[in-house]
Amino acid sequence: MTSWQGKNVTVAGLGVSGIPAARVLHGLGAVVTVVNDGDDERSRTQADELTAEGITVRLGDGATLPEGTELIVTTPGWQPDKPLFAAAEAAGVPVWGDVELAWRLRGPDAAPWLAVTGTNGKTTTVRMLASMLEAAGLRTAAVGNIGVSLLDVVTGDEPYDVLAVELSSYQLHWAPSLRAHSATVLNLAPDHLDWHGSMEAYAADKGRVYEGNQVACVYNADATDKPSTEDLVRGADVEEGCRAIGFTLNAPAPSQLGVVDGILVDRAFVPDRQKQAQELAEISDVQPPAPHNIANALAAAALARAYGVPATAVRDGLRAFRPDAHRIEHVADVADVAYVDDSKATNTHAAEASLAAYESIVWIAGGLAKGATFDELVTKSAKRLRGVVLIGADRALIREALARHAPEVPVVDLDRTDTGAMSEAVRQAARLAEPGDTVLMAPACASMDMFTNYNKRGDAFADAVRELGGSA
Ligand code: ADP
Repeated sequence: MTSWQGKNVTVAGLGVSGIPAARVLHGLGAVVTVVNDGDDERSRTQADELTAEGITVRLGDGATLPEGTELIVTTPGWQPDKPLFAAAEAAGVPVWGDVELAWRLRGPDAAPWLAVTGTNGKTTTVRMLASMLEAAGLRTAAVGNIGVSLLDVVTGDEPYDVLAVELSSYQLHWAPSLRAHSATVLNLAPDHLDWHGSMEAYAADKGRVYEGNQVACVYNADATDKPSTEDLVRGADVEEGCRAIGFTLNAPAPSQLGVVDGILVDRAFVPDRQKQAQELAEISDVQPPAPHNIANALAAAALARAYGVPATAVRDGLRAFRPDAHRIEHVADVADVAYVDDSKATNTHAAEASLAAYESIVWIAGGLAKGATFDELVTKSAKRLRGVVLIGADRALIREALARHAPEVPVVDLDRTDTGAMSEAVRQAARLAEPGDTVLMAPACASMDMFTNYNKRGDAFADAVRELGGSA
């Protein structure tokens, strides 16, 4: 679409990506209608603001395709099985997501994208990558869930050399023409299956990130699940000369990055892949140095190296990187017990990674399970558990899995979903813990039964630790 003047565009959904998309399109001269299922007070306030700017908003009717629509721009909350999309298909109207819109709106000399997706670790990896690119003196930004919005970056005046872009499976679903310089799918575990409809559909949407890659498709060489991220690379249609690059926590094969004697090494972007390994950084340069996070660092390093970043900048970028809050965050030590906040572990795959990072754990878990089962997580982690404290709406699912696979582990079931439950959970955990243990809040569940979001849940944990007498 070369000219936007007078184009009839329907934006599906208000909210954090719908409102900016509507404004940008309106600014380009398109005739914009926003449709929204909800008609609550918040939507009405947002609608009033947009209407005052000349944008039409239809509240309480997200199903009907407005007459004359030439394009739909949709937002991540909208599932693909919504009637609006069936109507669009029947009428031959294309549907773009916010990422597709950003991709199409980027200028002729736009910065290439290094793209990161995966079930867990996206934000961390993108921020590590941006840190490496910055250390190489490049003008860059970490774009996605944290920090700058993609649409702002591509339509703004600030010049960039290269972007580190976090993409969700929702966004990839509706981004048919996106072509990254290089991309990675960090890992694949069941999540958001309600939105995608099946694991196959979820994997296929993630795999879209590899389509049309120019330089490297970076995959997780340690993944054992099927489809693996390597399978997704093999299934992608890439540009000639684009290479498949693996990352592994073991010694790397040629065309891989990996770990040898505590050193992160590169056997992919070196002159002689058969013989040489380029040292990049030490494990202790990675914060926190947990196995899953070393994998994130290797994936980020692979993308940086694909873009030509020197080994020293990979190391300096890792050293400068600080993890975001609520992601395996060490809150305090109290009575020789470490208290760690991994509130962002909102699914079992994430919780499994953080439980694997400690030896003797009192685990605080529970919340909204989103249809997950806990047998595998409990089986894999049982030997590390000193005790478990359960909170939240779906805690019975975890309690039953513990009874099946780890009956010897003491469990305190708080039977509470009020906000104050976190304080009591921490007190109970302190009672179970012995010197040298870690009290780990990695709930394997979403937080919305008790808190507004995972940040608030993490803050409540930190407050409770402070009540115990801990200082950071
Ligand atoms: P995302 O942006 O994909 O949600 P984050 O970087 O915010 O990922 O990390 C979310 C949580 O996932 C972390 O708190 C940690 O528990 C877990 N995690 C991070 N990286 C990985 C990984 N590579 N594999 C499994 N779990 C991970």
